[in-house]
Amino acid sequence: MKKPFSKILIANRGEIACRVIRTARRMGVATVAVYSDADAAAMHVALADEAVHIGASPASESYLVGQRIIDAALQTGAEAIHPGYGFLSENPDFVDAVTAAGLTFVGPSSDAIRAMGLKDAAKDLMTKAGVPVVPGYQGANQDADFLADQAAQIGYPVLIKARAGGGGKGMRKVDDAAAFHEALASAQREGQASFGDPHVLVEKFITSPRHIEVQVFGDNHGGAVHLFERDCSLQRRHQKVIEEAPAPGMTDAVRDAMTGAAVAAARAISYSGAGTIEFIVDGSGPLRGDRFWFMEMNTRLQVEHPVTEAITGVDLVEWQLLVAAGAQLPLTQDDLHINGHAFEARLYAEDPTKGFLPATGKLEHLSFSPMARNDSGVRSGDSISPFYDPMIAKVITHAATRADALDGLLAALAQTHVVGTATNAEFLAALARHDGFVNETFDTGVIERDLTALTTGEPLSEVHIAFAAIAALNLDPAARGFGFRLWSPAQHSLRLIYDSELIERQLTLHETGTIVISGAETEPLSLQNLTVDGATMTARIGVTNAQVAAQVHLARRNAELLISVLCGGVVRDLTRPDPRSGRVTTADLGDVVVAPMTGTIVGLNVAVGDQVQEGAKLGVMEAMKMETTMLAPRAGTVSEVSCAVGDAVEGGSVLIRFEELAAE
Ligand code: ADP
Repeated sequence: MKKPFSKILIANRGEIACRVIRTARRMGVATVAVYSDADAAAMHVALADEAVHIGASPASESYLVGQRIIDAALQTGAEAIHPGYGFLSENPDFVDAVTAAGLTFVGPSSDAIRAMGLKDAAKDLMTKAGVPVVPGYQGANQDADFLADQAAQIGYPVLIKARAGGGGKGMRKVDDAAAFHEALASAQREGQASFGDPHVLVEKFITSPRHIEVQVFGDNHGGAVHLFERDCSLQRRHQKVIEEAPAPGMTDAVRDAMTGAAVAAARAISYSGAGTIEFIVDGSGPLRGDRFWFMEMNTRLQVEHPVTEAITGVDLVEWQLLVAAGAQLPLTQDDLHINGHAFEARLYAEDPTKGFLPATGKLEHLSFSPMARNDSGVRSGDSISPFYDPMIAKVITHAATRADALDGLLAALAQTHVVGTATNAEFLAALARHDGFVNETFDTGVIERDLTALTTGEPLSEVHIAFAAIAALNLDPAARGFGFRLWSPAQHSLRLIYDSELIERQLTLHETGTIVISGAETEPLSLQNLTVDGATMTARIGVTNAQVAAQVHLARRNAELLISVLCGGVVRDLTRPDPRSGRVTTADLGDVVVAPMTGTIVGLNVAVGDQVQEGAKLGVMEAMKMETTMLAPRAGTVSEVSCAVGDAVEGGSVLIRFEELAAE
């Protein structure tokens, strides 16, 4: 293969930077990473051949500063800049600056990005190209009464969208005329605050919608092909959670209509590089060739591109580099075929049981299923920083059929072990088991409708406690003296903490090798034939004597031992307080409330001496324009408040302390 470039710079971080570096390396292209303060030791920096520091941790002072990135490319002799997704990837001024500096931008022209940058102009352009768009008003008149009239003509429900919007921001669904004015004002405010542009469009809200998008690819020689579709209907707050390719229920006729429209859209703007045409589709019945409408075009590589790679066998980053270097598209439309079915699940450091609160902190251990493609930008020992998107990995599976690929996804998630921070893994698994999703009768409202069922985690099981206790006590049946006592079985008692709850158990080791765990309200649990092999423990459990395996990882955190047990696809992190200290004075018992993220205190409801109940609202923080309420981890008396309204606080810093509980 001809090398497209000798050296490229990747203007991004995390999994996508690592993913681009891998393909570049395979093609013999040298790579330059850029990094902020927070990312000095990040995986993408370690993977690249060279790395250049470009500024402070906030993206606005590093990954969004185009000139520093261009300087870094010039300094290191990189010939091209790959923008990844997010950050500067869809910023036409950056593309112009890159080109003006004599460098190649791996992506479309700035004109193409501008043409698709605003939702209203893009819809007009697509109408001219003969692509169906969602019926609505996308004109210049922004008078509130006029827009309300338009909404009435379109027919409720309608969707108000900030024309500059992205990531689901600046969007409001309105069900009737009475709610229109307030929703309009709030969409305009959000448009202004997030994008500096209050201009909105109003469109028909498609009921039971599915989000189906088409991957397109163009070159600089007039070539344009599609690489079939992806279904991204599983969304939370308009953000994709699980994606798949091809779309369930897709027929040849509908696929021809959609991909034809997508290629026409790409041709209309002489598109070069990887792009995605997003359609909203009527999912209330079987898919129809006249029931899909253009929503927007994303002029970059998408997060979910691996499912397309899985079913087509094409490395989209390889194509991006080749096309950017002036090559023609490597394959024609007739060469492209769908092979099997693929899923991608986005694994995040966030806690679905606590309103999807972003989690930060050190990943004490990270292991993935060897049966899946796991695109990640973090390793064991890395931290999830509060500055960027808390994605840990994308878990991608591919098989001959949808059912097999979905089973593969569940199996892969069940083998994913993230230690030290909350994740959405159980939520993803619940979604992958969701009846509607499994049976292919779903739309974008699934997650919201079934949120409670999808986010109610299982309680901590006795089996997890048993494995954690055995690991904490370092009991290995292969060790000499295991369970050996003259005349009587060996006894241990142990305290563990889980989610601020104290768990006390007794372990009795019998000479037969049986271990009995008691102290729970339920019947004691017995384990037989325990084996310990590195992180893997197995035992026959309970009356059914079923063979159960677990992965157990230990990490030191201050004076505590963190014990993480992955069993039955469920991860539970327990801690063991320092057994030498008489008191249980740990943050895990809920003595302190830490800032869940870096942000500003916007409300505070407690003062020193206040007695609060578990779950009481202690205060409100704002970060990235989102408000988060801080709840009391347990009942108790407030002994210290170390913040005030208006304070900017670092994620992880202690805000409120409770009087310590003395352990019995
Ligand atoms: P953003 O640029 O903020 O991501 P999009 O226009 O891509 O906004 O829309 C995001 C999501 O919102 C879509 O995937 C879909 O779920 C929903 N959506 C957008 N337009 C409509 C519509 N007209 N009717 C129903 N749902 C819609």
